[in-house]
Amino acid sequence: MPFETAYKKEILQEYEQIRFRNRQLLNERIQNIRKEVPRIAEIDAQIRDMTIDAALAHDEPVDEAFLAQQTQTLIDEKYEILKQAGYPSDYLSTIYTCTKCSDTGYINHEPCDCMKQKMVQRQYKHSNLGSKLEEENFKSFCLDYYSNLSDGKHELTPRANMENTYHSLLKYIEGIDSYFEGNTQQKGSILFQGSTGVGKTFLSNCVAKELLDKGYAVLYVSAGTLFEKISDVVMNKNQIADSQSFYQAVNECDILIIDDLGTEYINNFTASYLYTLLNDRLLRRKATIISTNLSLADLRQHYSERIFSRICDSYLIYTIYGDDIRFVKRKAWQSSSDN
Ligand SMILES: [Zn+2]
Repeated sequence: MPFETAYKKEILQEYEQIRFRNRQLLNERIQNIRKEVPRIAEIDAQIRDMTIDAALAHDEPVDEAFLAQQTQTLIDEKYEILKQAGYPSDYLSTIYTCTKCSDTGYINHEPCDCMKQKMVQRQYKHSNLGSKLEEENFKSFCLDYYSNLSDGKHELTPRANMENTYHSLLKYIEGIDSYFEGNTQQKGSILFQGSTGVGKTFLSNCVAKELLDKGYAVLYVSAGTLFEKISDVVMNKNQIADSQSFYQAVNECDILIIDDLGTEYINNFTASYLYTLLNDRLLRRKATIISTNLSLADLRQHYSERIFSRICDSYLIYTIYGDDIRFVKRKAWQSSSDN
């Protein structure tokens, strides 16, 4: 799981706040209980005085064992009073929201589960996908939308093709850690190609959810928005902070999803930027998932030979075909309401 992301700093600050709040809460508890049970205040004062005296006693040697025993007797008395007043024995101990990592986020330099969860929550929030993934994920994936009849153009029926795609994507998700770890056999990027409404965006959302749940930083962006914001950065010489942080996120996220490539206005700038972006992400072993209505031949023609060959060499390419799912759904809904 990659942790060197922009959110790490934010999360570490969150842990600081948690520890601060817990210290405040403990302080309040101590103050209140001293008022409620004055003997506890006396015990605390006694322990404090004893510790100070021992620290200041330069001339005479301190009987450490005796001191420890006296302190323990006072602590035992305090616990007993707490118990009798109806408080749990750890009521005045340091408070931890996560006892596993003591609110540091790490156990032996490895991220604690609470840290992983915070990371995933952040990745969701910043992915631009958010609540969409509650509906669009592999659990709601349904092969029934794909016909079992040949379309006369492809060797496999739309359903058989989708079934293959589905299994291949599961393998991709399984192997993604290995890609990020540097396994050169594993491909990290995907191109979903096919006409409108066949489920390309849905599939890329399914993959996005799985990768987010694995803790990766995913960023979804439509091709139109991508090029619009990037030209903002270029034209305005990086003056707009919002565009600037977008630019950074596009470059740095683990998985960049570019939806509907080909619907944006294509010119020399977009074609050259796209090549730089895709190539740079490949070199840095970042993953990119593209969906497009364009065929591979169109990609070559509209963008460049270089983009075409990068994609052919380094991407998993899935051609999705079948009926427009919105149309299939409407038909199914109509026939169910006719019955
Ligand atoms: Zn923890």
